[in-house]
Amino acid sequence: MSKVAVIGGGYVGLTTAACLADLGNDVVVVDINREKIALLKNHRVPFYEPGLSELVERNAKAGRLRFTTAYEDAVPGADYALIAVSTPEGEGGEADLSYVEAAANSIGECMDGPIVVINKSTVPPLTGDMVSSVLRKHPRGGEAAVVSNPEFLREGSAIQDFMHPDRVVIGSHDREASERVARLYAPLDAPILITPDIYTAEMVKYASNAFLAARISFINEIARISERVGADAKLVAEGMGMDKRIGPSFLDAGIGYGGSCFPKDVKALTALAERFDYHPELLQAVMDINRDQRMVVIDKLRDCLDELPGQIIGLLGLAFKPNTDDLREAPSLDIAKVLIAAGSHVRAYDPAAMEGSRRLLPDVQYMNDAYEVASGADALVVVTEWNEFRLLDLGRIKRSMRRPVVIDGRNIYDPPAMRGLGFTYRGIGRE
Ligand code: NAD
Repeated sequence: MSKVAVIGGGYVGLTTAACLADLGNDVVVVDINREKIALLKNHRVPFYEPGLSELVERNAKAGRLRFTTAYEDAVPGADYALIAVSTPEGEGGEADLSYVEAAANSIGECMDGPIVVINKSTVPPLTGDMVSSVLRKHPRGGEAAVVSNPEFLREGSAIQDFMHPDRVVIGSHDREASERVARLYAPLDAPILITPDIYTAEMVKYASNAFLAARISFINEIARISERVGADAKLVAEGMGMDKRIGPSFLDAGIGYGGSCFPKDVKALTALAERFDYHPELLQAVMDINRDQRMVVIDKLRDCLDELPGQIIGLLGLAFKPNTDDLREAPSLDIAKVLIAAGSHVRAYDPAAMEGSRRLLPDVQYMNDAYEVASGADALVVVTEWNEFRLLDLGRIKRSMRRPVVIDGRNIYDPPAMRGLGFTYRGIGRE
């Protein structure tokens, strides 16, 4: 059993804290957001993540998981301080490291002996050195060892991903500290890669996210070509994915990647490369294709409806992907804004992201379910592939719409079946 202070109670910090507590560690979460900590003290999770509320409640009741806004309640006596604060997009696309720096400062102020500072936030190579130098400004700071341990969990399956990771990556200038971090993961039976320096571990995270984003932009480019030549991009991807060298994941043509990670991480890697006088052309193309891909939906709507002003357009889904309420960089935001600016009436339903969306998109009309969205609409756009949209009574939907146009931004429906029902149907990369 180890004592762990987790700095930051967001998606990554809270999941990590609850999972580490569940493995038997004594965990305290520190967050500067008082409202978040107040909710957590009542065992309420301030965002939607399947299974997390139960895990938090169980471990909090067992006394293994506590919450505070004060570093001095968490850091003194801890074996590890795990930084999981936000690293949003900063100026010029570089990662904004001010939260990481602030966290390192606060750890430095409160530490009272040897401690391993684990950086789990996604940060560019060289950040670990910055954290070390911030810590060393404090009297006991020299007793801290800094280790990079990037997180690969996905929102929507965060607990499963933490408990059964494909790999755990750990890197530090201090090998012994890396091995101590590896011990935290020993109960998981996961492959562990310890890199001999901290920069490589930091780079693995950026390279992985950039590669996954590149796969998405790649298949979206193939989709655009497929449409033009009459091929079906979904089947093209299936055929590609059967090749063991390629594999099937992250080959879904759609409206592009979003979320809190891919957009900012690809940008940050690009900005980092530019800082070192390298122009990453492939990464630039990945971002350009992704930006344009969102507008493919608008083009298809124009094509099917002739004009956008006055049309009632229903969005099925708002979150950047299913099983989360996260709207950060969600394609829905751009699509809704463009449609509203063009004079369309936009209505929407999402099983989890309506509350956040009301704040970000106040001009959208929010409905109680997909059927209400469809009723009287001129077109429906599938924005997020929530399972509940796959099993809709499409005959009922068709009968209730003013014009039966469906733009399937996630290719969840079968084109011949949709046409058989009488829809004007457009998928992505297939008609
Ligand atoms: P988040 O915004 O959900 O949570 C960050 C939390 O840190 C917030 O609650 C904030 O109040 C808190 N915080 C900020 N500054 C603080 C400070 N000085 N002291 C204490 N708390 C502070 O962010 P997240 O999605 O959990 O992401 C955290 C990091 O993990 C980011 O670097 C992100 O890129 C990375 N990451 C995220 C995911 C994901 O799916 N969300 C996956 C892998 C890696």
